[in-house]
Amino acid sequence: MSEIVLDTLGRLAARNHGLVFYCDDADCRRRLDLTIERAIEIYGPDQNIIRWRPAGIRCAACGCREVECRVQAPNPDGSTGR
Ligand SMILES: [Zn+2]
Repeated sequence: MSEIVLDTLGRLAARNHGLVFYCDDADCRRRLDLTIERAIEIYGPDQNIIRWRPAGIRCAACGCREVECRVQAPNPDGSTGR
């Protein structure tokens, strides 16, 4: 049994996983307007996402530059969960 390691943007996208970005400010925690597709455009599909702190992203609400990202597994029915 081989384990598939989803450790880069490209691998996540290929497996229909999403990536959700959150502001890491304790009082804000806003979900940022950034999708995995856009992240691949900016950082490239080889960007490693393990403990990744994306640089160059700023929260539009509070201006915080600390961003946290979480992997979003695809829904069993194949929808994107919007
Ligand atoms: Zn914020």
